[in-house]
Amino acid sequence: MTRTVGNHQSPSNPAIHTPDYRVLPSVDQLLRSIPPRDRGSLNVSIFAALFAQVLSDAREEIAGGVPLTRDTVIDRARAATLAVTTPRLARLINATGIIVHTNLGRAPVSRQAASAMAEVASSSVPLELDPETNQRGGRMSEISHIMRLLTGAQETLVVNNNAAAVLLALSALAASKQVIVSRGEAVEIGGGFRIPDVLRQSGAELIEVGTTNRTYVDDYRNAIEPETAALLKVHSSNFRIVGFTTTPSLSELVALGHEFNLPVIEDLGSGALLDTSTYGLGHEPTIGESITAGVALVMASGDKLLGGPQAGILLGDEKWIAHIARHPLVRAVRADKTCLAGLAATLRHYLRDEAPTTIPVWRMVSATIDDLRNRAENIRRDLTHLTELISVVDSASTVGGGSLPGRTLPSIALRIHPSTQESVDDLAKHLRTKSVPPIYGHIVEGALFLDLRTVLPEQDPELTVSLTATLKPSTSN
Ligand SMILES: *Cc1c(COP(=O)(O)O)cnc(C)c1O
Repeated sequence: MTRTVGNHQSPSNPAIHTPDYRVLPSVDQLLRSIPPRDRGSLNVSIFAALFAQVLSDAREEIAGGVPLTRDTVIDRARAATLAVTTPRLARLINATGIIVHTNLGRAPVSRQAASAMAEVASSSVPLELDPETNQRGGRMSEISHIMRLLTGAQETLVVNNNAAAVLLALSALAASKQVIVSRGEAVEIGGGFRIPDVLRQSGAELIEVGTTNRTYVDDYRNAIEPETAALLKVHSSNFRIVGFTTTPSLSELVALGHEFNLPVIEDLGSGALLDTSTYGLGHEPTIGESITAGVALVMASGDKLLGGPQAGILLGDEKWIAHIARHPLVRAVRADKTCLAGLAATLRHYLRDEAPTTIPVWRMVSATIDDLRNRAENIRRDLTHLTELISVVDSASTVGGGSLPGRTLPSIALRIHPSTQESVDDLAKHLRTKSVPPIYGHIVEGALFLDLRTVLPEQDPELTVSLTATLKPSTSN
């Protein structure tokens, strides 16, 4: 009955055209127009709800004078179906050259860590039970034990992410008290993590000392009051101040802390367990170095250079960790069994000295230029009909994810020239949306770079197949 809708055309509203709703299919016709493989076994009432929305949007557009065809509406119904049946978080190839890419989900975990996570996800595990006594306990015991061996930290507590770890530590140690931070470290780190805001949220008062580029240990000393609860050090993860700068060393701060019986707590950010400088990068501070320097508490992310699942890791003195573990926020930010299993599996790679060959971020960091060039040449050779579109060029990778800002690692990329009919943005979008799996590169001077440092060697065949299927030689210039 197009009939009721016709009432919208009141004579007092002289329309330039008469909307024709007859193009609109029925819900039943829409249902039949979706190929069974795209239907995803959706419940019929779910289809009805999806299509009612598609039809009502279409009706509105037609009323507004937009000429819609029946096919357009059917396409939209199909797209609406695919939007709910296709997982949005699907695997892709990161050829951006950014090793820890926050928008692409940060560190991919090792094969072993991924299978440990999948295994515990689908089963019951002794998460908080000691099998010997059948008594409650042990949620952190495995990771604490491994971390003690790797870093010397007495105890470890794992929470949802590092932002939660910092908020928790400050809430537990410094609420209604003062925390002294260097002005150059009272900063924003990545997406909305602002040290002054986190401090305020924890109930602690931020006492900024020194200047943006120079802070001395005496600046901290002069700011210590009876209300002071901690000295906070924040690693400047995503920016660098170069030139005329001074900050006290960690050991100077620790000595000052001892003098006044104040804990030094450090937000390390990436929290590497291996030394990045052995791979031609700058030196990213490691968790072990902070523990050795004597800080009371270090906090780091699980999914940056550590190469594990998303987590916030607090390590340090038994007494401080125990104190923090009693805070009510702990329950609100706790890590789940898949995170703990994935983190433990990741840490075991470090126990076995196999991190550089098993943990994806370290495999990417440690790949040699010769290997990258050979792989690039092989891929280019296999793309037989596309070779003139593609060249193998020098490139630069970054660690990303708030580690080693301003430092690059030499790399190798496949450089793809867009065809004359196509812009480089179109080409990049084409590879993101049409290729299976999607390929994410980056644009350099009008060409698309696919940086091989962030592509794992086992992804090369897939990259080749996907490029062959997605790039058309006929569009080359
Ligand atoms: C990345 C980072 C954070 C936030 O960590 P998440 O794990 O993303 O919550 C906090 N502090 C520093 C110094 C960082 O580099």
